[in-house]
Amino acid sequence: VDRSALARAVADALAFVLPVECAGCGASDIALCGGCRQALHPNPVQQRVDGLLVWSGLGFEHEPARVIRALKEEGRTALARPLAPALAAAIAAFPASGEAALVPVPTSAASMRRRGYRVPELLIRASGGRAVRALRSTRVVGDQRGLSAAQRRANTADSMRASGVGGRRVVVVDDVVTTGATLLEAARALQSAGAEVLGAATLAATPKHIRREGDTPAIRR
Ligand SMILES: [Zn+2]
Repeated sequence: VDRSALARAVADALAFVLPVECAGCGASDIALCGGCRQALHPNPVQQRVDGLLVWSGLGFEHEPARVIRALKEEGRTALARPLAPALAAAIAAFPASGEAALVPVPTSAASMRRRGYRVPELLIRASGGRAVRALRSTRVVGDQRGLSAAQRRANTADSMRASGVGGRRVVVVDDVVTTGATLLEAARALQSAGAEVLGAATLAATPKHIRREGDTPAIRR
């Protein structure tokens, strides 16, 4: 038996049963092509949201945005691995992050029902960290899409509670930061519980100048 021919036949059969496309560019028969993998190379950027320092590993645009959307909206959880270095780079940008607890923003019950997994926790695990689930939602937050920064603040205000982190250094972790309203609320809740918040680390940041309809894939929390 020609083993390579057999392997090809098996690969062909699997491609037929489970058609796969590159999550970044749509190239066929590969989950993530070399070019798109390159586009996920960490390029940490920082911003301040009302004094909260936020580090992000990638810009939420082009290939990275499409790969993140596939992870979040298409159930392609294996993409957490190639995305993880960007989150790890954002976390490592905090000098004291080695001793900090990594606290993911809570995943809503509706998102959990829809996806079956928590994206920030998946990314923390894939980057070799341990998620400390210190935050919980105290009420349902409406869809943030289409809201202005001020509306998002009002929408998320007093929607989280933290526990078990008194006196601890923490870094808030989320997948994508847009206006930072969710991160600010997470930081507020953690500080109320006595934590020392170093800042927030996200996989990607939405560049302000590209937030146009249809340019960036819409994502849901
Ligand atoms: Zn590709």
